[in-house]
Amino acid sequence: MSATDRPVVFRNGLVLTMDDAHTVLPGADVLVVGGRIAEVGVGLTAPDDALEIDAAGGILMPGMVDTHRHLWQTAMRGYGADWTLTQYFVWYYLESGKLFRPEDVHAGNLLGAIEAIDAGVTTTVDWSHGLQTPDHADAAVDALEAVDGRFVLAYGNIQQGPWEWATSPEFRDFHRRRIDGGRLAGFQMAFDVTGDPAFPERAAFEVARELDAAVTTHAGVWGATNDDGIRLMHENGFMNPSTVYVHAATLTHDSYNRIAATGGTVSVSTESEQSAGQGYPPTWQLRHHDIPVSLSMDTSVWWSGDLFSAMRSTLGADRSREHLEAHAKQETITHCHLRAEQVVEWATRGGARALGMDSTIGALTPGRQADVVLIKNDASPVMFPILNPHGHVVFQAQRGDVHTVLVGGRVVKRDGRLVGVDLAAAQAKVASTIDHLRETMGEEAWRRGMNPDIPETAILENPYQYTEWDAGSAQWKH
Ligand SMILES: [Zn+2]
Repeated sequence: MSATDRPVVFRNGLVLTMDDAHTVLPGADVLVVGGRIAEVGVGLTAPDDALEIDAAGGILMPGMVDTHRHLWQTAMRGYGADWTLTQYFVWYYLESGKLFRPEDVHAGNLLGAIEAIDAGVTTTVDWSHGLQTPDHADAAVDALEAVDGRFVLAYGNIQQGPWEWATSPEFRDFHRRRIDGGRLAGFQMAFDVTGDPAFPERAAFEVARELDAAVTTHAGVWGATNDDGIRLMHENGFMNPSTVYVHAATLTHDSYNRIAATGGTVSVSTESEQSAGQGYPPTWQLRHHDIPVSLSMDTSVWWSGDLFSAMRSTLGADRSREHLEAHAKQETITHCHLRAEQVVEWATRGGARALGMDSTIGALTPGRQADVVLIKNDASPVMFPILNPHGHVVFQAQRGDVHTVLVGGRVVKRDGRLVGVDLAAAQAKVASTIDHLRETMGEEAWRRGMNPDIPETAILENPYQYTEWDAGSAQWKH
């Protein structure tokens, strides 16, 4: 992705710089030159050829960062709305995930990548664990390179052990061809550590070390990964500041201590943890261990890929936990620990830090890449008044209010419309993926997959009599 040469100046917005002091500047301009933030302040002088964008009534903030999203699964958007992890594992790991051809991974990635930039998520980690063959991997990268966002490929393959795919000559060849000197924003290796005492994952960690690639791993997932995996990683020296622990929701203090001591970060996917059952969103634990947090949306098979949802649900879940625990002790929470400002930090700087990109993205400060989001919607009653800027982003604004998005100074969305994106083409590719899956599986299996059985609800015994209206006597019957 190359920056456009034309400078851009946003005029008269409420600027959340997300610099170290979280400086907020009302009525300020943001000047972008050569793809980078040149200046932020009031009444800036801009070059004559600058594109002027009126930000009055809006909020300017850094592009958001999603540190864990299975973009390929966007091809089946919303299909798993009523799933738990049980249906998810059966569907993607054992059954239908195998049916994804390279063009299906491409289709999902393309639509998911477009969805991200549309929502102001300018950097996304594609946690791509459907790469069954090098052709699948090429198809995934082709899609990411076709969209003007920042994408980090986290390479994975759930159909093999990481000690198999990571050590294969095909994987090394792919890395040479597409990653070394490629156009992606970064590269990670994505695999889980089962806790097998033989620690077969060692071979994959060694490859990651050799390639200088960060490892991202689903850790602390109820019924799947636990403290044993963390302990094995730690004892074998494979935990470091670049390691991203996804969910980390069902771990003991010992594991959190190991993560904190080795400088790792946790990617919290609150909406996922709440519905799918990995464990309670762990922010309330992470603050006690001083572990840095980033946010993520996991997969559009359940939830749309926008970080407004992540911020809102994360703040709510943290407070919900705090109140619940206090009430169980007959106590009252009078002051919440977690603040909206902190959650905005997690959605921007937190993600940048997790990816080792904190000096280049995540804030609107001179010299950084110009990944800029303008939240502005003059037709919406919800965009006025803006009194608490960070709180407004978290609890009031939503993806439909994303007016303009810049990635590296390039305008990818303007006036609420994507720029230079062929959405219809992406939709057509996804439609043919759906046709392929439905045909291969058959309608019956397709319908069953979407509609898991509902367990019976036990109606509790009630000592009170129901009150009933007697039409004959026109009186309540007791
Ligand atoms: Zn995941």
